[in-house]
Amino acid sequence: MPSDCLFCRIIAGELQAAQVYSDDSVVAIRDIAPQAPTHILLLSRKHIASVSEVGAKDRDLIGKVFAVGAELAKREGIATDGYRLVVNIGRNGGQTVDHLHVHLLGGRPMAWPPG
Ligand code: AMP
Ligand code: ZN
Repeated sequence: MPSDCLFCRIIAGELQAAQVYSDDSVVAIRDIAPQAPTHILLLSRKHIASVSEVGAKDRDLIGKVFAVGAELAKREGIATDGYRLVVNIGRNGGQTVDHLHVHLLGGRPMAWPPG
């Protein structure tokens, strides 16, 4: 685990976060700066810098992250109206934390195209 990685430190319990889900491969926390009524971050326990670094051996993990996102959307009561799962990759993609995560956003209508 990179000791300077914010999300690795949250997963390790070194930093506080509002955790809403945890299993052997995925941890979900509420985003500290929510952009929608529901804004959850789905974190892989494994440190992967971004989706660009995902390899064939990580396919099950990626599927699991999305399945947990769909499950949490139901739990949050936003599944019926619809929601977004967003992955920011690299500088132009708007990624600010280099640890694989998917944003679960919902509870309001979303615009398209994104900014
Ligand atoms: P991204 O810009 O896609 O890399 O997303 C990183 C997200 O992490 C942003 O939405 C931040 O608001 C969020 N974030 C940063 N620090 C924390 C923290 N300590 N706890 C929860 N979320 C955080
Ligand atoms: Zn990490």
